[in-house]
Parts: sequence; C-alpha cells; structure tokens
Amino acid sequence: MNNPLPPGADVLISEVGPRDGLQSVKGIMPTEDKKRWITALYNAGLREIEVASFVPARLLPQMADAAAVVSHALTLPGLTVMALVPNLRGAQAALAAGVHKLTIPVSASAAHSLANVRQTREEMIETVGSIIALRNDLAPQVKVEAGIATAFGCTLQGLVPEDDVVRMAGLCIAAGADESGLSDTTGYANPAQVRRLFRRVRAEIGDRTGAAHMHNTRGLGLANCLAAYEEGVRTFDSSLGGLGGCPYAPGASGNVVTEDIVFMFEAMGIRTAIDLERLIAAREPLRAGLPGEPLYGMTPEAGLPKGFVHASAQNTSQGSAQSASKTAAKTFPSGAPHAR
Ligand code: ZN
Repeated sequence: MNNPLPPGADVLISEVGPRDGLQSVKGIMPTEDKKRWITALYNAGLREIEVASFVPARLLPQMADAAAVVSHALTLPGLTVMALVPNLRGAQAALAAGVHKLTIPVSASAAHSLANVRQTREEMIETVGSIIALRNDLAPQVKVEAGIATAFGCTLQGLVPEDDVVRMAGLCIAAGADESGLSDTTGYANPAQVRRLFRRVRAEIGDRTGAAHMHNTRGLGLANCLAAYEEGVRTFDSSLGGLGGCPYAPGASGNVVTEDIVFMFEAMGIRTAIDLERLIAAREPLRAGLPGEPLYGMTPEAGLPKGFVHASAQNTSQGSAQSASKTAAKTFPSGAPHAR
C-alpha cells in the first residue's frame, strides 16, 4: 500500500465525516464546532481526516469555511489533512489552503459522472491530469488520490461494468494520481463483489490501489471492509456516527461507522492506533454542532464488551494480527499456492 501507516497501526482508518458526512446533512455545522470535532477525532488517534471539500459555497454552503477548517487541522501534528476537490479550481483553493492530500471523485458510471461533476468520464481524466500538473508545479509533496465513485453500482445507471471500474482506475494512475481507491457511493456493494473488484484493480495498478470507501446503506459496510482487508487493502474510509445518510434512501445510515470499524479491527487484534473510549467521546462535539442529526453505530449504543482490550494490549496468546500472520508464515512455506 502506498499510504504510510500511523505509528503502531496495522491499518489506516481515514475519517471522512467532516467532508462526506457533513456534505449530506441539512444543518450547517458552525466552524468552531467543526474545529472541536476534528480535534476530538485527532485526540482519539485518527491520523488522516478528510476535513472539507473545496466547492463553490453557493452549491454547498456547508463547505464555505473549508479554508478555515483546513488551517485549524494543520495545527495538529502528524495529521494528514485531506480535502476533496472535484475540479482544478477546487484544487487551486485546497493547495493554497495547505492541505497534505487531495482526493478527486472520478465516477465509473457515465451517468453519475455527468450528474456529480458535470463532466464525462473522459473529461474527468483530463481534469485529473491538470490537477496533477498543478500539484507538480505548486506543491509536489502533496499526494493525490482518485476515488473511483459508483464502483459497485449506480442509482442513475444501475449496473456499472467491472471493466469500466478497472479501466478508470488505470487511467487515473496513468494521468499521474498517486493512488486510486474504490468507493461504494450508493451502498450497493457486497463482499464477493468487493473481493473480486479489488483483486482486479490490484492486478491493474498494484500498490497504487488505495482506500476502501464503503457506505453502510444496506448494512454491509463492515462486511465489505473485511472483504477488502482480505484482499490486502489497508486504508478504510469511515465517518464518526455514520454521519451522512444517503439522499436516495431515507433513514439509511451513510458511511461505515468509524466506531464500529475500529471496534471490529481492534477486537480482531488488528491495530488501528485509535482509542475507542476517546473515539466515542468525539461524538459530543459532533452532537453539539449538529443538534438533532441522527448518529448511527452499534458499538457506541452497546458499549465495549466487558474485559475488552485494544489490539496493542492484547496478549499474544489471544493472537494478535501480527502473531497470526507470523504463524501463517511458519505454517505455509512461501511460494505455496494461496487458497482461492
Ligand atoms: Zn462516500
């Protein structure tokens, strides 16, 4: 994987609530509350946060304060500050604000591309190229990720051919993107599909395969993340409280819930370097800034199991991911065929 892991972590949990979550809620979260929320996420151990999207304020008033939110996030040491940019103008503003990483939504669905960014897919690849040229000029250290949106299906077009997804990921990398991940924008994915598609994408772009960005619209978010993990994915996008919902499915939760995915990995002995108690406490500034907005998540509702210990504190007899993989390495001689 391309992404460096935070110290003491086996996977990178990339929090997207302040962008993906906030852009789909009605209420506007005050800037000061956004800052408090981002600080609380950081204090829980999150080391990559997508803090805003750089889009015209008239289209998305929620993001009018993007530059101010970025400048606050930049004060948190060791945090990778990400922003979504749909076009060159957004990239200019995000680079001027000082972000560390840009993410560009590139639709695999032809219909979604026109609806989301008002460009054809081919035009969007040209946009990726011009954003890369700008990045190379102004801030060569900034990473650029192309997130392949509607990779698992589209509410407008329905089926999205897997060949289209693989081709778009390859074109983004050819245009200069550092990595390309797969986004289940519509919550259509299932674990078998996730495994198949990540495997195909990895065959195409290798270690430039980026994050799994899963939504929990139909309850399969965690299962899909685990399927992606089993295909070697180590970066997972999620949002605190599953903030966001889906505009096409009233009452459905949005992104994978950060609290739940951290619980899943930690319980499995896979280290996230995130403290669950502090993570659950980070819901408070979110609630304060968006009163009445529904928050989701089974782990915060149920609390942590009695005797729960984080992966980093688990004794090896319980089997940490590391010791499990060491055991596997001992048991299976290298070069042995993997079970399929
Ligand atoms: Zn999303």
